[in-house]
Amino acid sequence: MELTAIRFIDSHAHLSSASVLPDISDIVTRAKNAHVDRMINICTNPITLQEGLLLEKTFPQIKNAGATTPHDVEKEGESAFPIFAKAAKGKNLVAIGETGLDYYYKELNRDIQKQYLIKYLHLALECHLPVIFHCREAFTDLFAITDVEYQKGAPAILHCFTGSLEEAKQVIECGWYLSLSGIVTFKNSHALRAVAKYVPLNQLLIETDTPYLAPQSQRGKVNEPSYLSETAECIAKEKGISVEKVAQATFDNASTLFFH
Ligand SMILES: [Zn+2]
Repeated sequence: MELTAIRFIDSHAHLSSASVLPDISDIVTRAKNAHVDRMINICTNPITLQEGLLLEKTFPQIKNAGATTPHDVEKEGESAFPIFAKAAKGKNLVAIGETGLDYYYKELNRDIQKQYLIKYLHLALECHLPVIFHCREAFTDLFAITDVEYQKGAPAILHCFTGSLEEAKQVIECGWYLSLSGIVTFKNSHALRAVAKYVPLNQLLIETDTPYLAPQSQRGKVNEPSYLSETAECIAKEKGISVEKVAQATFDNASTLFFH
């Protein structure tokens, strides 16, 4: 297959964040040159949502997802929820998220995170939208809550997965998608590369999580969608398949989830 046949979708990028937005035209051009044809912009507050909806008008290859992150729900969850709900119901979002649980930061209130996770799960079901999870050191509670509050078989994505192989297996058993970021390319990410090897192609997504987590060769820089191929190449190497195969599968998966 020729290189020009490769097409990627960046399934998770914060394109309307302040560190990226001023250069967005150049970033979108560089993405295109790097075969990143489409991007999911993750809006985490009403301001980035507003910017994201404007971005989509200028760049039809950008679609928006939105929710308050688990880090911010205590402060902003209540005021932002109706705004995200309105956008979702008005068909301005292609997914709900990132929502979820983050137990890494001990100071974050876990009960409030759970409360908003449930609210966003119900919103996703009501609007027939996939949900994008952020989950860090909280898989037991995430599975316990989704068992009760989310419909079996409804679409979900575990974004920037950094859990164990056992947790990856549980994600796959739920029928969810597992999204790998540039972390998989980091020198010490041996356990995550074992996950990359394991995840079935039909449940795999790739993402940059722009502006965070630039891949190994760009470490320390502001991340951007044009760096996505390094993650795909790393996964392809682990799986012993071509990067074209990884590109095609992840493109098809993200198309089915977000672009229809
Ligand atoms: Zn994110």
